[in-house]
Amino acid sequence: MHLRTPIRPEMAVVCVAAYFLAALNAAFWRQFIGALAPQDAHEWVFVAAIAITFFGLLSLFFSVFAIPYLFKPVMTLFLLLTAAAVYFINEYGVVIDAEMIRNITHTDTGEAYDLLTGKLILYVVGLGLLPAIVLWVLPIAYRPFWQDLWFKTKATALVLPLIALVMLPLTGTAMSFFRENRMLLRVMTPLNYLSAIVTYGRGSIETGAVAAKPYGEDAHKAVVWPGRERRTLTVLVIGETARAQNFSLNGYGRETNPLLSRIPGLINYTQVHSCGTATAQSVPCMFSGRGRAGYRPGAGQEGLLHILQRAGISVLWRENQGGCAGVCKGVPTENAGGSNRKLFELGESLDENLLTGLAEKIDAMQGDAVIVLHMMGSHGPAYYKRYPEAFERFRPACKDSQFSRCQLSEIVNSYDNTIVYTDYVLAKLIELLAVQDRRGLPTAMIYVSDHGESLGENNVYLHGLPYAFAPDVQKHVPMVMWLSPKLQAESRVNASCLEHRRHEPVSHDNFFHSVLGLLGVQTTAYDPRLDVFASCRGASPMLIDD
Ligand SMILES: [Zn+2]
Repeated sequence: MHLRTPIRPEMAVVCVAAYFLAALNAAFWRQFIGALAPQDAHEWVFVAAIAITFFGLLSLFFSVFAIPYLFKPVMTLFLLLTAAAVYFINEYGVVIDAEMIRNITHTDTGEAYDLLTGKLILYVVGLGLLPAIVLWVLPIAYRPFWQDLWFKTKATALVLPLIALVMLPLTGTAMSFFRENRMLLRVMTPLNYLSAIVTYGRGSIETGAVAAKPYGEDAHKAVVWPGRERRTLTVLVIGETARAQNFSLNGYGRETNPLLSRIPGLINYTQVHSCGTATAQSVPCMFSGRGRAGYRPGAGQEGLLHILQRAGISVLWRENQGGCAGVCKGVPTENAGGSNRKLFELGESLDENLLTGLAEKIDAMQGDAVIVLHMMGSHGPAYYKRYPEAFERFRPACKDSQFSRCQLSEIVNSYDNTIVYTDYVLAKLIELLAVQDRRGLPTAMIYVSDHGESLGENNVYLHGLPYAFAPDVQKHVPMVMWLSPKLQAESRVNASCLEHRRHEPVSHDNFFHSVLGLLGVQTTAYDPRLDVFASCRGASPMLIDD
């Protein structure tokens, strides 16, 4: 074979397109044929038409870059990115969309390190780098500029009508099929990540323009507050990747809540749904007060914590994750893992760190206080890194962030161990708050997870699927609360009334308004219909003194 015989650029383009179509879209074809389950000739013609259209469009797209000095570097970039995307599609069953790009941009180095597995490197080298090397050694004989432009114009004039001819009789089939199976388009590389980047970019620009709008400027404590002598403390715990189904409090077959289940007066909400299926979506949405329907992603919006501060409540954010997704901007913040933490090494990322020195912090805070604890919870895929050895209750546990190296039962074991550890951290926190109550400080704790997780159901793992397509396990989250005896008396919230209503459907939409309601903060941003405490609050506005 004469490697030194240069080939025409269109030949190289066609080869790259064929490689993308066949090798880098294997998951698409598998899922496409699986969803369509072709039964007759017409349906197989449809499959062929999609292949021709996909191939034609890929070729036209890549030919745009088929000019000297540009073609090989750009194709290399596409090959490497696509190989990485294929890894996540194949190994974790994730789809690539704007939400995922947002997650990636919000991921810190520790989480990224967990996802960097040997297999990912194998994918990138095998599916991306090797074909790129082949492309680099291939001599390409480019045409002079105007000649090239003329050639490409002719080629486009030929390919586009051909695609139209193939697809026109099948438009109805294609439209109804892809409307039903829109997810497939997010498995189609490189279309999925290119459109995701564009959507994400557009979203960032739009929200950038309306950033940092003051919100709830009229916030103040309700009239009952100034007369009260005692200060109060409310701890909001933002859980991570805990799904309701795996809490034994919600009827899970394994005892994953050995401690919480023994705490008298603990209120466990059984029907709670998250705002999103990823941290970067759920956390800002919960604090925004706009609810799932009204919330738009973007930085700079003021939210719950700013309103609380405006009402004169001291706020502290304790972080044990990559960040607070913008909701703690302008709020005193500390990193539970230490300020110069680089990677989530075992021992550094454990959620118990959130309780270290907490009692001293509480003593130092003036007036009414709200402390937010942002957990690392059950963040995957390295579930085994989220709990200390002593909490390995379910064995054997998966000790690898590459799921294909573990049995499904081992993955579930390690996930369930993270829930057992979360149970311990929350129980320990309540114990600390009960001590504060006995010392005269009324306390409350509200824990809610940011989203759930898929654990291999229908071969889907992790989380972050588009809300409309996401399985319930990614959206149905645990929520527990505990109100100290003194706080119940002060706030006149009737805990047995809450207990009665705990099976009613609620969501992250209730979080913002319930916190404002519990703390008696009045603002036009508050909606009593979304305050879970509103219907369980004593009618008498009188102060209770003791
Ligand atoms: Zn999360």
